[in-house]
Amino acid sequence: MSSYRFRILEHGPAGSPVKESFDPGEPGPGWVRLAVKAMALNHLDLWTTYGIEGVKLPLPLTPGCDGAGVLEAVGEGTQLPTGLTVGGSAFIAPGLSCGVCASCLRGDDMRCAQYKVMGHACDGTAATHVMVPAANLLPIPGNWSFEQAAAFPLVFLTAWEMLVQKARLQPGETVLVWGGGSGVGSAALQLVRFLGGQAIAVVGDPMKAMKCWELGAQHVIDRNREDVAAKVKQITGKRGVDVVFEHTGAATWPTSMACAARAGRIVSCGSTVGRETPLDLRVLFAKQLQILGSYMGRREHLWTLLGHVARNPTNPPFFPVLDKVFDLEAYPEAQRHLAAGKGFGKVVCRA
Ligand code: ZN
Repeated sequence: MSSYRFRILEHGPAGSPVKESFDPGEPGPGWVRLAVKAMALNHLDLWTTYGIEGVKLPLPLTPGCDGAGVLEAVGEGTQLPTGLTVGGSAFIAPGLSCGVCASCLRGDDMRCAQYKVMGHACDGTAATHVMVPAANLLPIPGNWSFEQAAAFPLVFLTAWEMLVQKARLQPGETVLVWGGGSGVGSAALQLVRFLGGQAIAVVGDPMKAMKCWELGAQHVIDRNREDVAAKVKQITGKRGVDVVFEHTGAATWPTSMACAARAGRIVSCGSTVGRETPLDLRVLFAKQLQILGSYMGRREHLWTLLGHVARNPTNPPFFPVLDKVFDLEAYPEAQRHLAAGKGFGKVVCRA
């Protein structure tokens, strides 16, 4: 079987997508076919596999938001982004949008009514070949491997949008980062350092604490051994943090509210541990908090991120942290590994 992909035939547990052979076909105008060399998993792979209450996904579906590979074929009349050639390598920006609506023209492609995240609302990268619009391709920086390039886009774009665009993080401000060992958490820790902030990482495993220090966290709290809110008060001299980086949800939300300083911003991109939570309005208004929802980010900011990497490619200010690399054939096993939550950083499959 030369070309294969994984399919979610019906919603089920982690690891339930099944392998099937397929004909990737030829790309149409504006599109390219990429031979996938590496793809990275995200929690969205799991949510798409499990199914989300109230959301109808177009099954059967190939999961996988992130990927990098070699440009194999280009549709007729397709213009490639600067620096990319047929036969060369590229990585994928995971959000597809119409390109012609007001949101898209403004650059807010993730607010387009037709916005689709690959591997969630349309076929994704858990395959040997994938079709993408040429506008969704970017050059792989410096000496990065396909695995690193695949692990980069979704979490760094998400973390950048949350910290820069939504929370407007200022140098010297403090940020509480839940799940410092997760893909998006490990990106956030590095971006906070890059932006001149001070990160307080929360982890659930002492083994992860050391790695958070290495990524620039100024403080690390083990939530299983320490009271997070009390520890944050101690670290910040009772003031609280300026920004809470939330992607966990109901289990952490009351603590996030308690940890935020006056005029603090709580920015959320996920709810991996529960989606409904009480909101103490007295805390909200008395502390003059801002609660900010965030979903993906502007595609242009992947170019912004690449620019910062390109300035010092041998010692970049931030980089994707790889947890474990599986063979693409073992994509279901990689899903189970991610779901177990024991790793640090990104789970990747190599094709
Ligand atoms: Zn649009």
